[in-house]
Amino acid sequence: MTTNVTPYVLVIGSANLDVSVSAAVLPLPGETVIGNGAFIALGGKGANQAVAAAACGAATHFVGRVGADAFGRMIQEGLRRRGVHTEELREVDAVATGVASISVEDSGANCIIVVPGANATLTPADLDVLEPLVRGAALLVMQCEIPLETVYRGVELAAAAGRPVILNPAPARAGLDLSRIARHLTYLVPNETEAAQIAGRQIETVQDATDFGNRLIAQGIDCVIVTLGAQGCVAVDAQSARHYPGHRVAAIDTTGAGDAFVGCLAAGLATGRSRDESIRRAVLYSALSTTQRGAEASYPRLEEFERAFESLK
Ligand code: ADP
Repeated sequence: MTTNVTPYVLVIGSANLDVSVSAAVLPLPGETVIGNGAFIALGGKGANQAVAAAACGAATHFVGRVGADAFGRMIQEGLRRRGVHTEELREVDAVATGVASISVEDSGANCIIVVPGANATLTPADLDVLEPLVRGAALLVMQCEIPLETVYRGVELAAAAGRPVILNPAPARAGLDLSRIARHLTYLVPNETEAAQIAGRQIETVQDATDFGNRLIAQGIDCVIVTLGAQGCVAVDAQSARHYPGHRVAAIDTTGAGDAFVGCLAAGLATGRSRDESIRRAVLYSALSTTQRGAEASYPRLEEFERAFESLK
């Protein structure tokens, strides 16, 4: 990385309003259960990752689309309040803001329906005009809740500008053609489900994740980090494969844990930390996020997180 790069994280991705409900046990199809809690919060993988990156101390810009409606304004205000730059989070007419309906059971397991709405209107051409913003970034972060063609264009723009890219291939999408962009990816960060979608087989153990990582490295990705829930993560690059064990925490809601991981990883790298330290920070930050309810609402503030990270040493 050159020394004159302003170290901001650039997140291009989805912003949703999350409507969360909780119950002792998730309902089966056709079943209705009485829940024990409800709340509405800022969400979407892109917005969550931007909030996590900002909370972890990195200047953060967010590029996305919301509808010209009350939910869209809540998202814009929510991101700004959390210190995220939103000049490129634009409103579009005649399409509703994206919504995620999240159901969580007391065990911490969750299931989610995402309606993309305005997120689906972010086009490759929308990114072309943002080339200077990409060029000025320390690193670009993307996920797969926007059109895949837009994801590919973002990756290509970052590569042309010589900027590192983290792709979180979430949610798992059968149409994702990694061969188009693998050589431009600095980091691919899937969870077990997303890795399984890409691999075409189950990825559950540290060994599975290591083998998976090695296969993708051979396709040109610099570093593959598979998150493994309570097992932490496995990071594979051309030199090494390493398991970072998970932290033992009282997990009550894992919603947004992967986003906490990606945002914290991006912030670590953008603020000049080593890959190893950035991953160790991400493992802790994401673990702590599971001890509170919600997605971004569960992300620790910087001072609290730094204290926890220091206490590990
Ligand atoms: P996602 O939220 O995308 O499904 P994971 O479940 O792999 O992703 O979680 C991401 C990260 O969050 C993990 O690498 C781990 O550090 C942390 N994490 C998730 N669940 C737990 C848990 N039960 N205990 C401790 N850490 C957890």
